[in-house]
Amino acid sequence: MKKIFAANWKLFKSPQETRSFLNSFKKVFSQATGEVVFFPPAISIEAASECLKGSGIHFGAQNCHAQVQGAFTGENSAQVLKELGGTYLLIGHSERRQIFSENDSMIGEKVALAQNLGLIPMLCIGETLEERESIHTFRILETQLALGLSKADPSKPLVVAYEPVWAIGTGKVATPEQVSETHTDVYNILQRLGFTAPILYGGSVKPDNASNLLAQSHVGGFLVGGASLEVESFIKIAST
Ligand code: PEP
Repeated sequence: MKKIFAANWKLFKSPQETRSFLNSFKKVFSQATGEVVFFPPAISIEAASECLKGSGIHFGAQNCHAQVQGAFTGENSAQVLKELGGTYLLIGHSERRQIFSENDSMIGEKVALAQNLGLIPMLCIGETLEERESIHTFRILETQLALGLSKADPSKPLVVAYEPVWAIGTGKVATPEQVSETHTDVYNILQRLGFTAPILYGGSVKPDNASNLLAQSHVGGFLVGGASLEVESFIKIAST
């Protein structure tokens, strides 16, 4: 199956910076060995949409509201993302869970909405360091998946991103053994719940650790933060 290389730009890159990055990236995109997806900040999605038209490169949003419209000041609509040509919706990133108090039930609503609109939900799951140290990892991931997918349709496309919270933006990458073991657990939990989905790894992926991580069991690609902000480092990862 084709690997997926996804770039989470968080709150970086203006519309102009987005255009400039994507125009450069298009020149090297042929080196990519899998599908490439960009998640720009909401205000730069339209710029990405214009730049990526007909390129074969995908884009999506980092979040949306669980309703398509209404009195929700400051929120963004998944329906508008769809109209702009977006294909993916990132849901339940640990920064959304921790900083914006998103819970598994809200996340489950968003996964269902994305699928109903014909978008592909990229559901993020992962344990904190305390949870890993107290050997709760399996139970945490099982709960996040069961609740996050409680309203999802197994016949519709889905991507899961396993991102240990302690590895995001810290430079502390999970070991290949941890990745292999946890991805196998995630794969088995998904099977038990009746879902099949590519499982991406995220957490301090860099050009020098990408090939070893990609070789581990059930690793279907990467969700990349910091190293996706430069064309050179991201294309190195996407051509792993
Ligand atoms: C992320 O934001 O999802 C992420 C994995 O970030 P980083 O690659 O910087 O750890």
